[in-house]
Amino acid sequence: MTSSRNRNIVIVGAGIIGISIAYHLSIRNNISITVLDSDIPGSGATEHSFAWVNAFGKEPRTYHTLNRRSLDMWYRLSDQLDSDIGIHHGGELRWENTENGAKTLINRVRQLQGWGYPCRIITKDELVSMEPDLSPGNVLASSYSNADFHIETDKFMSVILNKVIENGISLHSNTPVIDFKRKNDRIYSVITSETEFPCDIVVLAAGVNTTSLADKVDVYLPQQCSPGVIIKTTKCKKIMQNAAIIHAPSKKETHQHIHMRQLDDGTLRIGQGTQEGINSDDSQEHADALLDNLKTYFPAVGMASAITTPVGYRPMPIDGYPVIGFTKSVSNLYITLMHSGVTLAPIISEMATIEIVDGINVEWFVPYRPNRFNTV
Ligand SMILES: Cc1cc2nc3c(=O)[nH]c(=O)nc-3n(C[C@H](O)[C@H](O)[C@H](O)COP(=O)(O)OP(=O)(O)OC[C@H]3O[C@@H](n4cnc5c(N)ncnc54)[C@H](O)[C@@H]3O)c2cc1C
Repeated sequence: MTSSRNRNIVIVGAGIIGISIAYHLSIRNNISITVLDSDIPGSGATEHSFAWVNAFGKEPRTYHTLNRRSLDMWYRLSDQLDSDIGIHHGGELRWENTENGAKTLINRVRQLQGWGYPCRIITKDELVSMEPDLSPGNVLASSYSNADFHIETDKFMSVILNKVIENGISLHSNTPVIDFKRKNDRIYSVITSETEFPCDIVVLAAGVNTTSLADKVDVYLPQQCSPGVIIKTTKCKKIMQNAAIIHAPSKKETHQHIHMRQLDDGTLRIGQGTQEGINSDDSQEHADALLDNLKTYFPAVGMASAITTPVGYRPMPIDGYPVIGFTKSVSNLYITLMHSGVTLAPIISEMATIEIVDGINVEWFVPYRPNRFNTV
């Protein structure tokens, strides 16, 4: 597939996936890259993400391994970009306060250890010595996964956007794609409300809107609706001394589990339930309740107050797994639709570039092809 003439690649969507692909394409020769976003870069799911980079809760093993590889690839991407991209190291801490929760956690840690994931069961004393401001209450089992981290996605997006612009890509914000022009099995032009962009290849990285855009060329990519709310707080003292991410159990029956992280500026991000938990309550009452819940574990949060954020929608394929690759019915349409896109951005973007530019079938992606929905 290598050619000396310039190939036009149009990427629809400037979230973490679209822009990371643009970056890897931009370091190859003879490619003209255009990125179109209906809003501003990073304003989709990427902005609403909890941004925990991990392979902890990922099943089955092949999907765990995909996430694990990507987690390790973040360091190389960080070296390549050679700037502070907002990675917070420190691992993930969690504990459980019910018999059932403890049993599930211990079994999960044993399974992950068998897969070679660096995590272990720790004692309550270790938990508290790692986080001296923490009052965990009843602890029946706790664990530490030291490979996990979180990333400040706005810092990452700002660095990588500067880099792709420096590398000569053409980026158009506030430019919604509304349709495609197609001849036989190929798209030859991407239509926006104002104009159109001729193309040799289209990469569809439009997050939740990928499904409706693919539908324009009769490609079926079913998604589930997956709203989530990650609230913010005003600044507080540094309460997380070591861990990057903490998952805490519910203390009262009316509470859910919570997860938290702290940014460089002292503000916190807090979500409830599991990583994929459905929540569309973006009221101030809900935000206050989450922070009150957290304060029972970290009284040192003190006077910080909760700031509600709008609901974010996870790009969530119907079976929960990524959709990556060329479609069968439209041979120059490459799809990237996924949850856990913050964890997966390095592997998806580098390997998608190999598939698009070098015409190679990357075997890691084989379970995730668009044609598994049987209509493309
Ligand atoms: C509440 C929540 C918590 C999450 N927690 C985690 C986590 O802890 N760890 C993790 O790894 N992942 C997490 N995720 C998932 C992760 O954030 C996403 O998988 C990732 O951000 C997807 O990136 P994307 O670039 O594919 O999509 P997006 O960031 O949604 O980007 C798509 C872009 O396409 C643009 N667009 C849409 N329609 C059009 C159109 N017609 N024309 C042009 N442009 C268009 C949008 O404006 C947007 O900028 C979470 C997501 C949410 C919502």
